[in-house]
Amino acid sequence: MDLGIKGKWALVGGASKGLGWGCARALALEGVNVVMVARGADVLNQAVADLQKEAPGVTLIPVAADITTEAGRAALFSVAGGPGKDFDIVVTNAGGPPPGDFRNWDREAWIKAVDANMLTPIELIKATIDGMAARGFGRIVNITSSSVKSPIDILGLSNGARSGLTGFVAGVARTKIAAQGVTLNNILPGKFDTDRIRTTVEATAQKTGKTVAEIRAQQQAVVPAGRYGTPQEFGALCAFICSQQASYITGQNFLTDGGAYPGTY
Ligand code: NAD
Repeated sequence: MDLGIKGKWALVGGASKGLGWGCARALALEGVNVVMVARGADVLNQAVADLQKEAPGVTLIPVAADITTEAGRAALFSVAGGPGKDFDIVVTNAGGPPPGDFRNWDREAWIKAVDANMLTPIELIKATIDGMAARGFGRIVNITSSSVKSPIDILGLSNGARSGLTGFVAGVARTKIAAQGVTLNNILPGKFDTDRIRTTVEATAQKTGKTVAEIRAQQQAVVPAGRYGTPQEFGALCAFICSQQASYITGQNFLTDGGAYPGTY
């Protein structure tokens, strides 16, 4: 299926690996030019070089920056060869907050989590949405977490900060920008095989005294699909939400978790 977004410009956060990389790759394979942001230059430059081989016809621009800072966002909006703030597609994503016990989190830990997983997406939306509306096309996709629907005990910082973003997005999606070709949606990953899951699995292993292999097997056994998801599967959903075909879908939360969420709705 041609998604009808060839030649558009996308911004993808956390794009050097994992779910952000999956989104950047799927968009690039659809002919979308991508500004790919991540903190570490080496891994990012390698990811861009590899993806350029798969998608030779598009422009891929790496920006090594911390997207949760004002300076990082200024860098990606002013990168040479990029579209400035005139992105057609914005995929907001940064590293998730650390796992732990809420009794040990002080104000600073909360501010950091809210900054990264709520206020940064809001700043990116604020900077780009009116331009999208003026041009009559825009897609904003926030990578959040299944923890928004089904909280995870050791990820209280994530449960809280991402729920705040979800409420904000639900409101903005239904303003007049909905009639101007701009959609805002969230993708809620369950368990995907990335570096992030390796960190949380290690934390659970330490907490429970089990091995990493045992925790991985246990986690996959309770997913009806019987396995973790892949960044490629995640990217395919992201690209579809960014497509012309998805023009009538806004303000939604797409759970992608191999059937792990046990509810009917
Ligand atoms: P990952 O660790 O594999 O990749 C994270 C990427 O984000 C890397 O490219 C890293 O360089 C980049 N990054 C991190 N902080 C950044 C920052 N401040 N500025 C710019 N780039 C930054 O992680 P992932 O598994 O792809 O997870 C992506 C998001 O999805 C995270 O917020 C994570 O908490 C959330 N999530 C992941 C899963 C999962 O199963 N993998 C499940 C639920 C939620």
